[in-house]
Amino acid sequence: MNVEHRAATEALCLACGLCCNGVLFVDVRLQPEDDAARLAALGFPIKPGAASCAGRAGANGPRFAQPCTAHDGCRCRAYEARPAYCRQFECLLLSDLTAGRIKKEAALRIVQRARKRVATVLRLMRDLGDCHDERPLSTRFKQITRRVEKEGLDEAASETYGKLTLAVHDLNLILAGAFYPG
Ligand code: SF4
Repeated sequence: MNVEHRAATEALCLACGLCCNGVLFVDVRLQPEDDAARLAALGFPIKPGAASCAGRAGANGPRFAQPCTAHDGCRCRAYEARPAYCRQFECLLLSDLTAGRIKKEAALRIVQRARKRVATVLRLMRDLGDCHDERPLSTRFKQITRRVEKEGLDEAASETYGKLTLAVHDLNLILAGAFYPG
């Protein structure tokens, strides 16, 4: 990758952050080469666990939840010491940019569109009383849905929930089409 190309990929990730902020993943598994104690000492909230979304190795191994506590704006506070999966991960959009299948400007427009959809989802969640920014987006939507099914909603909230359902669908379309690899 030449210098210009590297700058383009860095610019994309610095404008995005969706793989760290709880939009793409619920949690990230540690890989065999990771040192869980060292990462925990750095502030990663490592938990032993079973189910996970990001990371391929160690199905029942340790993991840490998203949004990542090291994620700061679109920067990583632990970049030099970040876990192996974070080093390895490339979303589809980044792979396309790296391979020259998409131009930087077009890729940035997709990131802007996705982030706008995230913002809409967050606004509607807050309107429904969910302010749990520390939780992954998909978990929040499931929790809201469970609450709606259990307690019901008045007419105004029901309309908001309908808008939220559509907004989550719109967001998932762009995530599935442009970001999730494979
Ligand atoms: S989702 Fe893709 S473009 Fe966005 S920060 Fe992660 S790797 Fe970079």
